[in-house]
Amino acid sequence: MRSVIFYLILVNLILTGCKPKPDSVSSINQMIWGKEGEAAIKLFTLTNRKGMEVRITNFGGIITSVRVQDKNGKMENVVLGFDSLSGYQGTHPYFGSLVGRYANRIANGKFVLDGTPYTLAVNNGRNHLHGGLKGFDKQVFRVDTAYASRDSVLLALTYLSADGEEGYPGNLKVRVTYVLTGENEIRIWYDAETDKPTVLNLTNHSYFNLTACRENILSHEMVLMADSITPADSTLIPTGILSPVSGTAYDFTTAHTIGERIDDVPGGYDINYKLRNRTGQLVQAAEVYEPASGRLLQVFTTEPGIQFYTGNFLDGSLTGSNGLRYDKHSGFCLEAQHFPDSPNQAQFPTAILRPGEKYRQLTIYRFTVRP
Ligand code: BGC
Repeated sequence: MRSVIFYLILVNLILTGCKPKPDSVSSINQMIWGKEGEAAIKLFTLTNRKGMEVRITNFGGIITSVRVQDKNGKMENVVLGFDSLSGYQGTHPYFGSLVGRYANRIANGKFVLDGTPYTLAVNNGRNHLHGGLKGFDKQVFRVDTAYASRDSVLLALTYLSADGEEGYPGNLKVRVTYVLTGENEIRIWYDAETDKPTVLNLTNHSYFNLTACRENILSHEMVLMADSITPADSTLIPTGILSPVSGTAYDFTTAHTIGERIDDVPGGYDINYKLRNRTGQLVQAAEVYEPASGRLLQVFTTEPGIQFYTGNFLDGSLTGSNGLRYDKHSGFCLEAQHFPDSPNQAQFPTAILRPGEKYRQLTIYRFTVRP
């Protein structure tokens, strides 16, 4: 009898090749990953019925890994990150982070709202960047809901950003809901409410590399559904105008590899694109294809802009997951968001939230393969 069972297990292993079974059930598992002060930090593993696996921690709402199939069914991690919590607790360029209260830059860390001037923490030259000295990426989120249904897996995290945190007005209640669907999408819903007028701009700062870091990102082919950018000064604060991309190295309205014209862009790409999205509806923002693996990433969002960043400041000094060294152009970010410095630029879509209003954003990262 024992040998029959052994034989059946062996046959099963040979047939499945140890790969996750297609259409197996979805699940969510959690483990204690470490501590931040006295708070226990958890790492959640969300797996859908196709075997796609996403890991998220309640430290900074960070997506630490995204394992998806390539055209041969091989599962690999396609985002930059660390294997341990300490990597995220240290200095890093916002790998996988939930960025807030205001993603991107606010000039000189200052803005005026309803006639009241506010001064924010300054952490990027003279400017405020990604929420300041201790942004949402370094905060502990409360775990609100974690469950798996037949079709999708959901993790909801909440955070109360206190009045005055990093200089921002108002107690801001934030809820971020990550849904891994059965169609290999990561859907990120952001909800927020405030008790005083404030500004906010939430985004996810994942760095993608569809080769699973075998190569850099320069041969990835990209289309951006965007006709103009917000050109910026030397400190990356928008000048205030919209500039058409047509005829420039910023034009991704048709497919180009990321590397094709990157040398024409001083320092590499780090720029906000205006999406074709006037009313906050969900639109497709981007499509990135990596020919060797066949992986295709599509991005959809309700936001008016997207920051395209090519990891220009990575310099080989950070050792990430699986001992990988992250260098210049090891990953690219597509950060769906409001335009940089909107609190100081009245002509940009407003990033103000008032008491009684509900902030809601949806951004989707969808993974498929082209044969
Ligand atoms: C910004 C870059 C910055 C990077 C890491 C990106 O969102 O656009 O300028 O270097 O984040 O902080």
